[in-house]
Amino acid sequence: MIHSFDALILGGGAAGLMCAIEAGKRQRRVAVLEHADRLGKKILISGGGRCNFTNLHCRPDNFLSSNPHFAKSALARYTPADFIALVEKHRIPYHEKTLGQLFCDHSARDILGMLEEECRAAGVIIFLNTEIREVSRTTAFVARTAGAEFRAPVLVVATGGLSIPKIGATSFGYDLARQFGLMIRETRPGLVPLVLDADDRSRYCDLSGVSAEVIASCNGHQFREKMLITHRGLSGPAILQISSYWKAPHQIRIDLAPSAELTAVFHNPKTPRNLTALRSEFRKILPARFADRWLDLHAPASWTNPALAAIERQAHAWAITPAGTEGFEKAEVTCGGVDTDELSAKTMESRKLPGLFFVGEVVDVTGHLGGFNFQWAWASGAAAGRAL
Ligand SMILES: Cc1cc2nc3c(=O)[nH]c(=O)nc-3n(C[C@H](O)[C@H](O)[C@H](O)COP(=O)(O)OP(=O)(O)OC[C@H]3O[C@@H](n4cnc5c(N)ncnc54)[C@H](O)[C@@H]3O)c2cc1C
Repeated sequence: MIHSFDALILGGGAAGLMCAIEAGKRQRRVAVLEHADRLGKKILISGGGRCNFTNLHCRPDNFLSSNPHFAKSALARYTPADFIALVEKHRIPYHEKTLGQLFCDHSARDILGMLEEECRAAGVIIFLNTEIREVSRTTAFVARTAGAEFRAPVLVVATGGLSIPKIGATSFGYDLARQFGLMIRETRPGLVPLVLDADDRSRYCDLSGVSAEVIASCNGHQFREKMLITHRGLSGPAILQISSYWKAPHQIRIDLAPSAELTAVFHNPKTPRNLTALRSEFRKILPARFADRWLDLHAPASWTNPALAAIERQAHAWAITPAGTEGFEKAEVTCGGVDTDELSAKTMESRKLPGLFFVGEVVDVTGHLGGFNFQWAWASGAAAGRAL
């Protein structure tokens, strides 16, 4: 059986659906081919089930890419305000949680339902359970499944990244890019918990569940948010954010007491200089169990002013060398992907092969935690959809 369309969109996630809606609104006959049994599974599990669908403070420097300028054009032409207008049109209640992050009041299902309704209104045809066996290009693009053939002059690859394989993530988009001769920037897990080596695990991981506000930094980037100790290492927003910039064997540095001077009390000559007094100062800033443990492992060499200054410095730059990450099984995103040099920043179309587009996470553009990855999916999807 042969199906012919103006455009085929591979992948019915955030970017693919937005692309389909924008193209459908322009009277293109669009098909979305999705291998799962339903659309937008990642949208449903996002933001703890409430989908952090955008961020009010979205700026180009909230994104990692080999070309930091690439995302600017698409982000400027489809902004958080554009997506919020759509959410409000569908009367979906939402709220700002923190730092400009917008979440649904009820459920991520509201966002998926909205996209499905917009697809219906735009005449988009959805094919679920559609496993593409191969894609070729003669006069048009041809995508073959076990029993059918889909043809169109335009193909949009929106198959996402490698994170969470158990809900359908595949390397399909990268494989297809390679097949058509496009370069791929090395992929690695991003927004992912870090794993400590055996020694550090035995030092800290029995404190699993303890959290503190810190500044985590690595390779010239820093994030002030919560850090969480896990049974294998470190997580929490500060660590997830910095994980996208971390590569083995680099160190990360953690300021355990941002803006506080832990040893200030010792400027007073009446304060006794001993571990009890120091512990009490650390406990004012950090959870008691962690404060005690950290001091047990980093006791000052003496109680002189230079030794106190050294412990102060150390607490603001605790150096940890992670053994690795929890991998794509636990990563929220994939860093790297289709090289942006291969694509038009305005339309996401391949420079080498006109008619071939890449949108969303499969492209080498990765957002910080906080709604930025969806904003990139909406913006890049819209950029392509308006160009089809
Ligand atoms: C647990 C979790 C929580 C998250 N929470 C947030 C959040 O709150 N805010 C935020 O901004 N970002 C969040 N993200 C990141 C965000 O979900 C992604 O960046 C975003 O979904 C990427 O959109 P996409 O359309 O490019 O890819 P996806 O949404 O992954 O969509 C790709 C689609 O392609 C399909 N597909 C894959 N291979 C094939 C194939 N061979 N044939 C056909 N179809 C295929 C998949 O089944 C999927 O439906 C979260 C990610 C995870 C894992």
